[in-house]
Amino acid sequence: MRDDFTQKTKLTLQHRVGNCCSNPECRRKTTGPNSDYTKASSIGVACHITAASMNGPRYDSDLFPEDRKSVLNGIWLCESCAKMIDVDVVRYPVELLYGWKHQAEAIAKYEYEGQDVPLELLYSGYNCPYCETFVKEGITFCKGCHADICYGLTPKEKGETAKSWGMVGLGSCMVLFMFVPEFLNGIFGFSIQSFFGNAFFSLGFTAVLSFLLMIFMPEHEHKKRLKENPRFFKARSY
Ligand SMILES: [Zn+2]
Ligand SMILES: [Zn+2]
Repeated sequence: MRDDFTQKTKLTLQHRVGNCCSNPECRRKTTGPNSDYTKASSIGVACHITAASMNGPRYDSDLFPEDRKSVLNGIWLCESCAKMIDVDVVRYPVELLYGWKHQAEAIAKYEYEGQDVPLELLYSGYNCPYCETFVKEGITFCKGCHADICYGLTPKEKGETAKSWGMVGLGSCMVLFMFVPEFLNGIFGFSIQSFFGNAFFSLGFTAVLSFLLMIFMPEHEHKKRLKENPRFFKARSY
């Protein structure tokens, strides 16, 4: 048995989000004119957040049938997003869909009241710690206070990272070529020469290793830092 939405519930879901798809990445209008000028076309679907029947996507056996077909368990989507959420329930869990729904309703409320929709509802981004202005993801300065926004490492930090990894290269090669032979000789009575008897090779090896570390490690740390929130700097303080 399926706990389908009534026509009234479907309409309520559609109107609560101003007839837009509730996926924040999509947001398309779900109705429009048909070429038959006596008709309108619709691609909107009232979807179940937890499935209408057993074995359906995100089915919750704890719900009563009334809950399952109530407005609370529905989300308005375009046909393509409706399909998308049902073929991959791991990627589109219940909590995410509730989040979409609340966001879509919040946006629709501003639009319905004739107000500007706050940017933070429409885009992902960050609030400036100095002036609280919302900054869209990817933008590199704050419109409110002209703070610079740095994603990843600053140029100065990159320089310093390169320097310290260069030192690591030099230091570890010194240990390898000078102290390791001495250490082995001391313990096992070997007679290995410093630089393993080949200073030219050792110096070349040291140079190449240090150079590679200086090139790749700053990039690696930059990429690692990119996964965190960007930092805001006042007036070129970096
Ligand atoms: Zn959509
Ligand atoms: Zn600011």
